[in-house]
Amino acid sequence: VLEARGITKCFGALTVLHGIDLALKAGEVVSIIGPSGSGKSTFIRCMNMLEKPDAGEILFRNRRVGEKYRGSGDLLGQGELRRHVGMVFQHFNLFPHMSVLENVIEGPVIVQRKPRAEAVEIAMDYIAKVGLAEKRDARPDQLSGGQKQRVAIARALAMQPDALLLDEVTSALDPELVGEVLGVVRDLANQGMTMVIVTHEISFAADVSDRVVFMENGRIVAQGSPDAILRRPDNERLKAFLARFH
Ligand code: ATP
Ligand code: MG
Repeated sequence: VLEARGITKCFGALTVLHGIDLALKAGEVVSIIGPSGSGKSTFIRCMNMLEKPDAGEILFRNRRVGEKYRGSGDLLGQGELRRHVGMVFQHFNLFPHMSVLENVIEGPVIVQRKPRAEAVEIAMDYIAKVGLAEKRDARPDQLSGGQKQRVAIARALAMQPDALLLDEVTSALDPELVGEVLGVVRDLANQGMTMVIVTHEISFAADVSDRVVFMENGRIVAQGSPDAILRRPDNERLKAFLARFH
């Protein structure tokens, strides 16, 4: 459903991504692992055009994403892409002055222009799914980190995306709160949600992924089944990276 072809990204003189290719099939869960600074966040942000690649292209359902000009009807606009591809960040990015429910209906009401009653119904469905029905009227500052992150996931799901991009959604959490958020992500994987998951939770990646991608210095150095990449790695740099987690 979602494909990156030859994605290259520079920040000034620094080339952060060197022509990354990654094609995501419907229902597939791909985890991206790699050292800090290897370009994982930059790449996942390119996948829904929060970051504009310097070269290469993103395709959604085989339609190229780009700026829309008159007469370029085959191109998919960035706004359209983001309606289909949701993203959840390390630092939740909730609206602090709005309740849980208001945070979650924002997208359906403002972006999708759904009637409020319908948006509330959809939102409550996902809020319940992440186990926060009783917190619908709470503000973010009244929630734990794990609860905030579950709201952020519900907010992304309320847009009923075709794919979800998750960038280290547990790394800002206290250790005892990591499990509840990973549990929600695991449920999504089991329900067949198409996802790209950037994570340092190696055993979680081994559990939920169909495919694991190892990035280093802006390149994909190795990829394959969780078993091949995480349990029987044959690349020296990958082995060195994984050794840090033992
Ligand atoms: P981490 O595991 O620490 O999150 P990462 O793999 O996600 O790391 P990126 O955040 O993608 O790495 O960063 C890749 C490189 O790009 C780093 O060298 C970083 O300093 C640089 N970089 C990222 N964003 C910007 C920016 N907006 N301006 C300049 N340089 C940037
Ligand atoms: Mg990052």
